[in-house]
Amino acid sequence: MMRQYLEIKQQHPDILLFYRMGDFYELFFDDAHKAADWLGITLTHRGKSNGEPIPMAGVPFHAVDNYLARLVKQGKSVAICEQVGDPATSKGPVERKVVRVITPGTLSEDSLLEADKENLLAAIYHFKKSKQDKPYGLAWIDLAGGQFFCNQFAEESQLFSELARLKPAEILTDEAYADSLEKLGMTIKLQEDWQFDFQQNYSALLQHFAVKNLDGFGCDKLHAAICAAGAALNYAKLTQQSLLNHLNQLKPFDNQQILYLNSHTRKHLEITENLYGEQDKSLFNVINRTKTAMGCRLLSNWLHAPLIDAKLIEARFDQTDALIASGDLDTLRQILTPVRDMQRILTRIALQTCRPRDLTGLRESLAVMPDLINWLKQQDTPLLREQGEALCAHSDIHDLLTQAIFDNPPVVLRDGNVIRDGFSKELDDLRYLSTNASDLLADMEEREKEATGISTLKVGYNRVHGFYIEISKAQSDSAPISYTRRQTLKNAERFITPELKELEEKVLSSQAKALALEKQLYQQLIESLEPQINDLQFTAGQIATLDVIQSYAEVACQLNFVRPSLNTNHDIEIKGGRHPVVEAFQAEPFIPNDVVIKQREKALIITGPNMGGKSTYMRMTAIIALLGHCGCFVPAESASLGILDAIYTRIGASDDLSSGRSTFMVEMSEAANILNNASSNSLVILDEIGRGTSTYDGLALAWATLDYLNNRIDPLILFATHYFELTQITQTNSRIKNMHFGAIQHGHKLILDHQIHPGPTSKSYGIHVAKLAGVPDSVLQMARDYQMHLEQGKHHGENETTQLSMPLDSIPSDPEPEITIAKAIAADPRITLLESINADDVSPREALELIYQLTRQS
Ligand code: ADP
Repeated sequence: MMRQYLEIKQQHPDILLFYRMGDFYELFFDDAHKAADWLGITLTHRGKSNGEPIPMAGVPFHAVDNYLARLVKQGKSVAICEQVGDPATSKGPVERKVVRVITPGTLSEDSLLEADKENLLAAIYHFKKSKQDKPYGLAWIDLAGGQFFCNQFAEESQLFSELARLKPAEILTDEAYADSLEKLGMTIKLQEDWQFDFQQNYSALLQHFAVKNLDGFGCDKLHAAICAAGAALNYAKLTQQSLLNHLNQLKPFDNQQILYLNSHTRKHLEITENLYGEQDKSLFNVINRTKTAMGCRLLSNWLHAPLIDAKLIEARFDQTDALIASGDLDTLRQILTPVRDMQRILTRIALQTCRPRDLTGLRESLAVMPDLINWLKQQDTPLLREQGEALCAHSDIHDLLTQAIFDNPPVVLRDGNVIRDGFSKELDDLRYLSTNASDLLADMEEREKEATGISTLKVGYNRVHGFYIEISKAQSDSAPISYTRRQTLKNAERFITPELKELEEKVLSSQAKALALEKQLYQQLIESLEPQINDLQFTAGQIATLDVIQSYAEVACQLNFVRPSLNTNHDIEIKGGRHPVVEAFQAEPFIPNDVVIKQREKALIITGPNMGGKSTYMRMTAIIALLGHCGCFVPAESASLGILDAIYTRIGASDDLSSGRSTFMVEMSEAANILNNASSNSLVILDEIGRGTSTYDGLALAWATLDYLNNRIDPLILFATHYFELTQITQTNSRIKNMHFGAIQHGHKLILDHQIHPGPTSKSYGIHVAKLAGVPDSVLQMARDYQMHLEQGKHHGENETTQLSMPLDSIPSDPEPEITIAKAIAADPRITLLESINADDVSPREALELIYQLTRQS
């Protein structure tokens, strides 16, 4: 047995091997140590190898899902090795085989999947030999949802942005990205370079889809994407030990069709989790009113992939409006409630791993179809009536499942009682035999008594001799000729007849036969569903979409959201806007605010006290824009939104310790990303750019960033700052407008009104906010004294702050940003020295002398 184990283990050296032995999965050697550690199970020993006891650990087979779930959560993979031979007929150890490999990205079992999240396997590859301008390939498979996508990018950062959107559970990659992905906390599976080979993967895809080229899917020319797609498909097939016929389409994902959000923006806008990783305080959680797991996942997808096609957005608005107009959302929501996760059930049917309750789940889901269709058809809006017409009830499949499967079948098929009585005459007969043996014997006894006239005749059963007819010694001579003597007792003779023999065989084997037949019928049933899977998946998708739209409608009614209008000028005009997440989680009422960012005033500088509401205001604007692009109504009195191409945010700062970058470095690289990528159709939100460095540097950088963005790129800008000097920029640039959050000061008390006002503010009330935060009074008093001292000094040009502020006053009204930064740098004499040198004119010796000179000065 150990030899067999080691042979199998050799094929799966890097992952745990669960080796089935009777009612347990056992792990040996190193695997046993790892499992004991990861799962907290007991480590024991069994037998010896090279004189040493073999470490062993095991988990009971009936609880295996539980253990697998824990391992998968830790990013581990497991090979499941089952007994496939018949123990009764095998010589030596029963034949065993790895029937599937469970990996974090290729799950399909309900018990291992999270209902509200997609579970994705991704593959990425930098196709250096690609002659195209997009060499970064990406493919991803949602195995449980039966989806297969690919994409390719010109730049690595775009690839990483997409990974941030998708959050795959497992990423196949070569050495090139292993480290950087692991640093991001992603689970990777290292692949060899040849596994991404273009030619081989292209052929594999053609073979899988049984096509001559990939033109039909629109991805024949996506070379880098094909390298990744082939690798992902091969890996998924290997782990599942299945042909994965349900993955019947490779869809090129078109990023041009969605609003671009980079990974920082997704994080800062707290779309599906907040900055601390809490999911409940996310935008998704506040607006999620879906009724089905499929709708829930789709809503999350939509929020991460806002549309930029006005027609598609309007279509979602129209549908939402239509559902609100029905005035009967509650009924629709009730109808949708029993719908189960059809998408994942259908995948398990395709993989032939579905359990009886998957089939009843599908049946319960299809049972709602007549009501759903009727409800839609009864509505006044033609849009909904058309949707009702377009939905397929699949009543034939529902009826088949009703006839075939009991109301409440057991969890597993193993012990039978899944196929309903009446579905198969043969199965009914077998069941009848096994459960009614005593009645049958009693019947026969009656008949034989009557036929033979022997009053003492009895039909009975014993373990050794089986069924028999017993006649008392006195009457045994009258036994008919057809009776064969089987056993002689003291007072009786026992006989057997051909009819009884036949009954005996039938009864004794009926249970096993019934079970075998049930398994066969179950298999046939699944196979008969297979051709319908595509249609059913389509219906499942329609239900998911309807569920998201009803969630939009419900949230609009409950939280008072309105339909925005779309404008073609790329303006944003919001009246009475609210931040839905802040509003949901704070006890005080939310103060609505207006936002106007228009062609003539495309940039707003926002000043005001700390805690005044600047950050909330900017995020609110971004979230309203985002929701609008998702086709969702928005939290405002009214809103007019232009179609954007991207939202960029630079909000707050935290040290990126894992990559050893300081707060300021993180801030600057995010700013650089925006400056390099934003367009005139983007919304850019910058919160306190430059505060991570000295006042002088910070103001210079903030000023240059705003100026460059406004003059050179011209996106919609919301720019919050504490540098009051920056507000003067509006004197020379009429396209920038000052806005501020107000506060009323009562002695040392500060009242924040959270209301946006036109114009700049001149006070930051930092000391008041410090008081709110609980800084001791004596420290506050010292701060006030020092502040007064500084302000007096400022007027007399005495102190450091004044010196630092000096150049701010002298910043030219509309200079080139580079000049301002250069000015700051030029203060260093080493730079002046370097600038005075023409590198081509110096000899190596002079260069060395120069280096000495520079290092002496540092
Ligand atoms: P700032 O960026 O100016 O420091 P924030 O936007 O972080 O201020 O707001 C601070 C807190 O004030 C928020 O956490 C929220 O509780 C509250 N707040 C902000 N804006 C509003 C508003 N419009 N209505 C009600 N409370 C608000």
